[in-house]
Order: sequence, then structure tokens, then C-alpha cells
Amino acid sequence: MKTFIQDTLRDIYHDVDCPYAQRLLKANIRKVNEDYVFGKSLIPCRHCQSLSYIFHNRMESYVNNMRSKNLSYMLDGNWLLIQTDVAFWKIGYDRYSRDFFLFHGNTAPESTEVKTHDKNEYHRQADAMHRRSLSDYLDYIYEHDRFRRGDYNHAPRGSRNQRSKCARARNNLKRAERARVYALLDQMSAGACG
Ligand SMILES: [Zn+2]
Repeated sequence: MKTFIQDTLRDIYHDVDCPYAQRLLKANIRKVNEDYVFGKSLIPCRHCQSLSYIFHNRMESYVNNMRSKNLSYMLDGNWLLIQTDVAFWKIGYDRYSRDFFLFHGNTAPESTEVKTHDKNEYHRQADAMHRRSLSDYLDYIYEHDRFRRGDYNHAPRGSRNQRSKCARARNNLKRAERARVYALLDQMSAGACG
């Protein structure tokens, strides 16, 4: 189980490596585990419980992951902006619930160069299944845009078995997408994320 540092004066919790935790007086901190942190509803530190911190912590692995999927990215504050050749995306993070959430750009990008595209309109990707990690969303984006481009048409469909496999996969995806409502996004638009 993961260990955190509790600032006992303010009931804020930090990652053990957070520079803000290291500045606190020893008398005012203690090590606590995940159950304690979430059981007591301690307040997540703005710095170490942010998307940017999470991203930088495992940057090499995320960057390699995106590179292998041909995704261009840019970190813009606490948003991870991602661009494929067919769409804009942005991923945010709610440090209170520790969930990631996803927005999808409404327009197709003119190039794969990522810009701070606040001019572009986004909609909440409500059909994206609830994801607990950044990597899961990278997979989702990749699969989504691959489907958009029609790459699935090139999937092997020679045999009846293969054809029904494809159809089943598509139906499962559709069903899952219909079934889930992305409630977190509502929290986010209500201003729950700092
Ligand atoms: Zn911190």
C-alpha cells in the first residue's frame, strides 16, 4: 500500500517525495497509508497530486507510450493536450477523486503539431469508459482515432470466425460506451478541480 506524508496542521497529504512535504517541520508530519488518507478525506496537495506531477514522475514511460501510438502531446498546466492526425484531445485529473477525465476536440486538427488549443471547442467524451490511469486513456484515444480513420476495415475478416470476432468487439465497445456515464466530468465542470 502506498505511503503518503500527512501535514497534521492542515490535514493535507503529499507524496513522500513532494518538495512541499520536505519543507514541513518533523513535528508536524507523519507517514500514513492510502486507507488512512482516503478514509479521513485528507486534502490532496495541489502540487504533488496534480496531473503535471503524475506525468513528470513517469514521463519516460508516458512519452514512449505516446510515441509508439503516434500521439503528439503537450503539457499545458494541468492539462495533457494530445493530438492525433484526426482529433484533439485533452486529459485532466481530479485530485480529490484521483480520476482522470477526457475531453475531445470538435474539429479536426490541421497538422499534428500540438498547440495550446484553447480556441478549439471541446466536448466531454462522455462515452469514454471510466479510466483510472493515464495509460488507459492513451489506449482509448489511440483505439478511438484508429476506428475513426477506418483502420478497422483493414482488420482481417477473411473467415466467418474473424468477421464475427470483429462484430463482437464493436458491439462490446458500443455497449460499454452506452452504459457508462462519465459523472466525474460534471464534478469537474462544477469546479471541483483546482
Ligand atoms: Zn505535495
